[in-house]
Amino acid sequence: MSVQLVDSFGRVHDYLRISVTDRCNLRCVYCMPEEGMAFEPDERLLSFAEIREVVRVLAGYGVRKLRLTGGEPLVRRDLPQLVAMLSQIPGIEDIALTTNGIYLANRAAQFKSAGLTRVNISLDSLRPDRFALITRGGDVQRVMSAVRESIRVGFHPIKINVVLMKGLNEDEIDDFLQWTIDEEINVRFIEYMPIGHDDDGWRSKYLPLNTVLERCLTRGWAVESTGEVYGNGPSHNYLIRGAKGRFGLIHPVSDHFCETCNRLRLTADGSIKPCLYWTDEFNVRGVIGNDEAVAQLFFKALGVKPLNHEMAEALRRQSQSHTPTVRRMSQIGG
Ligand code: SAM
Ligand code: SF4
Repeated sequence: MSVQLVDSFGRVHDYLRISVTDRCNLRCVYCMPEEGMAFEPDERLLSFAEIREVVRVLAGYGVRKLRLTGGEPLVRRDLPQLVAMLSQIPGIEDIALTTNGIYLANRAAQFKSAGLTRVNISLDSLRPDRFALITRGGDVQRVMSAVRESIRVGFHPIKINVVLMKGLNEDEIDDFLQWTIDEEINVRFIEYMPIGHDDDGWRSKYLPLNTVLERCLTRGWAVESTGEVYGNGPSHNYLIRGAKGRFGLIHPVSDHFCETCNRLRLTADGSIKPCLYWTDEFNVRGVIGNDEAVAQLFFKALGVKPLNHEMAEALRRQSQSHTPTVRRMSQIGG
């Protein structure tokens, strides 16, 4: 391998998260406000050809893994075409998708044959009325159909992303864990993050994830750490003894995983974000076509990547060493 994407703390970056749109067919309460979001006009979004060019350059510097996200990535209806384009790039080994699943069921097979390797489906409640409340109108049955169809076409493992919030869905932890006992499914509980909204609403709903392990204790479920790393995830992975599936804890606030961060982010409008949390970004759109300039901009972004985010400090209302982003999660991609 020649030159790699290494930051000033020696972290090697081989993983790019690509947001393909900031629009969404849902309005999850933790992700974006019900009204008042200003969306990028279509002409400001990177085209699939531009995304391919960026990835081709980065593959030459050791990027191996990609994740397509959004907004809701399936809002771009021809997304399987992008998957097919990216899967042709030498060096790219893994193309994953994070989706709310609403449009996925009848397209899962198409994604599979285009070269998608893995899928994460976001699902914060198994109860229809509550799911509709959290997503502001979503139909949980459509998501369950997407899960079933993804399993049927052979995506493995299926990961379910569950953002836990105090007073909203914490009483469903047992149901999600029971699902991992019954089925070969990988539930990843995620701490609620203050991306673009470090406010008291976040503080009052934030739930540390040791709650999940406490629930296992209360239920008498023996839990083992699997020690496995699934894909590129920062989650700590566990197994309830005898279960068919697994569960993972992603706890950026209570215990961050920045020291092993291997990820870069590209927003739908072409901005490189070296860190999810901070404001720094570098727009690559104007230099696409000039491979050296594209690479240089990524190295510049890595040069300012801080050692860690400070969500824990935000929780305690302590002052921050840099400026947090004002983008909402839907404008970054998670
Ligand atoms: N629309 C797709 C979806 O929901 O899966 C992809 C984009 S969404 C921004 C990516 C992930 O970020 C989802 O799993 C979502 O639950 C998570 N997310 C959004 N806002 C969050 C927040 N404030 N804290 C923690 N996770 C969040
Ligand atoms: Fe849309 Fe995903 Fe954000 Fe929910 S979490 S509003 S589905 S982008």
